[in-house]
Amino acid sequence: MTNLKLIQELTELDKKHFLHPTSPIEQQQEQGAAFIFTEGNGVHLHDLAGNTVIDGMSSLWNVNVGHGRKELGQAAMDQMSTLAFTSCFATFSNEPAIRLAEKLSHIAPGDLSATFFTSGGSEANDTAYKLARHYWILKGQENRKKIISRTKSYHGVAMGATSATGLKPFRDFTNSLAPDFCYVDHASSQSLREVIEAEGPETIAAFIAEPVQGAGGVHVAPVNYFKEVRAICDEYDILFITDEVITGFGRTGTYFGMEHYGAAPDMMCFAKGVTSGYVPLGGVMLSERIHQEFTELSKGTLLHGYTYSGHPTACAVAIRNLEIIEQEHLIANAKAMGEEMLNGFKWIQSEREIVGEVRGLGLMGGIEIVKNQHTQERFQAPLVPQIVAEAAKRGLICRSVVFDGQDTLVFAPPLVINKREMSQLIEILNDSIQAIE
Ligand code: PLP
Repeated sequence: MTNLKLIQELTELDKKHFLHPTSPIEQQQEQGAAFIFTEGNGVHLHDLAGNTVIDGMSSLWNVNVGHGRKELGQAAMDQMSTLAFTSCFATFSNEPAIRLAEKLSHIAPGDLSATFFTSGGSEANDTAYKLARHYWILKGQENRKKIISRTKSYHGVAMGATSATGLKPFRDFTNSLAPDFCYVDHASSQSLREVIEAEGPETIAAFIAEPVQGAGGVHVAPVNYFKEVRAICDEYDILFITDEVITGFGRTGTYFGMEHYGAAPDMMCFAKGVTSGYVPLGGVMLSERIHQEFTELSKGTLLHGYTYSGHPTACAVAIRNLEIIEQEHLIANAKAMGEEMLNGFKWIQSEREIVGEVRGLGLMGGIEIVKNQHTQERFQAPLVPQIVAEAAKRGLICRSVVFDGQDTLVFAPPLVINKREMSQLIEILNDSIQAIE
């Protein structure tokens, strides 16, 4: 079968049988898949039509060690051919899960020391909210149920995670969301205090925040924001949960995003980069104090667990993935290449009149598109979808964020990106913006 025939066949089957996640259904039905990927190598993806593109998003902010790592395939094969899966319910356990949990306790911020494993970030978020509420039940304060999150936040698509997501269109997509969620302005610690006071501190279980907001448009918090937030949570006896699903495992140029802010959480959600996306895995870590209180106060069974909590193959791949991140100094590379990326954005800003604010931390970057750089006036309809399509044609994958009236391009290339590849990314981006402006 020629490639063309195969592409036609798969395109039709894709339209007929595959409901894509977070997808424009009409566009998929009209145009079919933009790329049918077949192979990946480092920062590059190859498709069935013979195109090679730079994966400027690490797929979904997650392929941290880059595509095509044979070591991770080997780790999965070794584990699968000895013990692919066994349950961790009750008192069953396995070595990869134990070793990974121990490793995480050494690298995670503050005194996070015990891990509850999930299959991804949404499950990690729902788990965190449930464990936070259960914690207050154990402490005899069952009125503490409310979860506070920030505007522009994204926490996933499970019922709880959607409810916590500050990007309203995700909540409006469905109805009957989980009760007892409220929102604060994403950049103001004062707003957190006001909402706590208005709702009643004795009704609040936890506050959750991404160290750098990703899907909401790459928003980096003010320098003192998390220290202030930590102090407010302590003052009102509220659990502070960080969502490091994107920012964990080197993405921002430190192991975890919270290291930039010098504040330690009580609980932390992680996923994505823990396995660089090679297999699904996520989890929630608890601080030593919370874990100890859980152990001391719990009576009966912890009635929360996924079939795949502590999946041995996923955990074995994660362990190997973390070794690669450390052995290849990918966190330092993320820092250096992140500076390179931001400088590139600033250069584009000086060249292109429609580039407004540029921002980033490590290998998370955002560019605002505006009608006028000086007045920051925006276009009536966002321009970024066209720029993303143009960049894809020219060999670069990036994403558009149009929520809350934004017109923003976001980037998160793999941590293995080198200087030459970064220059290519910047050049294609500049050409793509020029083609549209
Ligand atoms: N939390 C954050 C900060 C995320 O960016 C995401 C996904 O993009 C999630 C949670 C949800 O993770 P998953 O898609 O693995 O369920």
